[in-house]
Amino acid sequence: MILFASAATYVPWTSAACAIILSPMDKTISPRPLFCGCCQVRSVPRVVLAARRPRGHAPGSRAHARPAAGTPRETGATTGVRGYSPPPPPVSPIRGLIDFHTHAAPDVFGRAVDDDELASLAAARQMEAVVFKSHVTLTADRAWLARKHVAGIKIFGGVVLNHAMGGLNPHAVEWMWRMQGGHGRVVWFPTFDADNHVRRAGTAPAGIRVVDERGEVLPAARAVLEVCARERLVVHTGHASGEEALVLIGAAREAGCDRIVVTHAQFDVVGMTEAQMRKAAALGARMELCALGMLTGPEAPLEWMRHSARVPVKATAACIRAVGAQHFVLGTDLGQTGNPTPADGLQMLVAALQAEGVTREQIQTMGREVPGALLMG
Ligand SMILES: [Zn+2]
Repeated sequence: MILFASAATYVPWTSAACAIILSPMDKTISPRPLFCGCCQVRSVPRVVLAARRPRGHAPGSRAHARPAAGTPRETGATTGVRGYSPPPPPVSPIRGLIDFHTHAAPDVFGRAVDDDELASLAAARQMEAVVFKSHVTLTADRAWLARKHVAGIKIFGGVVLNHAMGGLNPHAVEWMWRMQGGHGRVVWFPTFDADNHVRRAGTAPAGIRVVDERGEVLPAARAVLEVCARERLVVHTGHASGEEALVLIGAAREAGCDRIVVTHAQFDVVGMTEAQMRKAAALGARMELCALGMLTGPEAPLEWMRHSARVPVKATAACIRAVGAQHFVLGTDLGQTGNPTPADGLQMLVAALQAEGVTREQIQTMGREVPGALLMG
């Protein structure tokens, strides 16, 4: 059991923190765009700050009356009038949970919220923690600054080993974890610069490899893993294929790493099968399940998300049942302009999983206990 400090007072929000005008799509679209936080529109100007929902109702009104203990409202059931959205739940459905994968401004891609806004929304829902991820810069320092600005939420960061950080560069990892505050806890192997990613996307003939032609982990990757093991950092497999991820997990265990996560294991760029997930779990790795996968597919409102298959929640729930909740962590991979905020996305994922029969206890395991141990244990 992991004990965490309680978060700030819950203020139900039902509207996004800000409205955004979309800019035209980047003209350099790859032949086969791959989704995740790395693929989408340019930064755009923010134009309108929306108002918060009013806090509560007039005393004495029917809506003001608090439900008795054990009523459906307290357990999160929908009690809204048919055809309308339900009232704000009295208890945040994502209270105490951790989002292992968020993207915020400033960034090289359009983001719906900045670091402080993302953290504020998470704190307002009484979440325990969020992990900031950038494909091109450190986030360990940004986690320190956002913690200074926003109370009631833990924020962690790290480094993604793309070309911007020198690829598989152990020095980047060494300086990342030394950042003041000690909030830099995560090392992602290459994402949009990964060999697997660029070959699938057709954006370059080759990218950063972690495994050679014979299936051996490259020395540079082992050098990174040695630092991760010594400093007990979380190793995220990035955009390696499912097969490559298994090889990397094996090498990570050999190096002494005991905190390993397969980045959005279900997304098509990784494409882990259930059998591969079982193998990864047997090796001690956890698989990340991300809310963004519910929003992709041909019907997606955002053009750049139509090129990747949707990850059906039914399939995710089946995976959890088959492999075991103790082998997963929850994240969103959200923060892009035009998408739900990470806090909204996590709430959406949790509600959808519960509707598919995943229990609240399993949500706590995947959304709190397992990620909490990885980040703070
Ligand atoms: Zn990704």
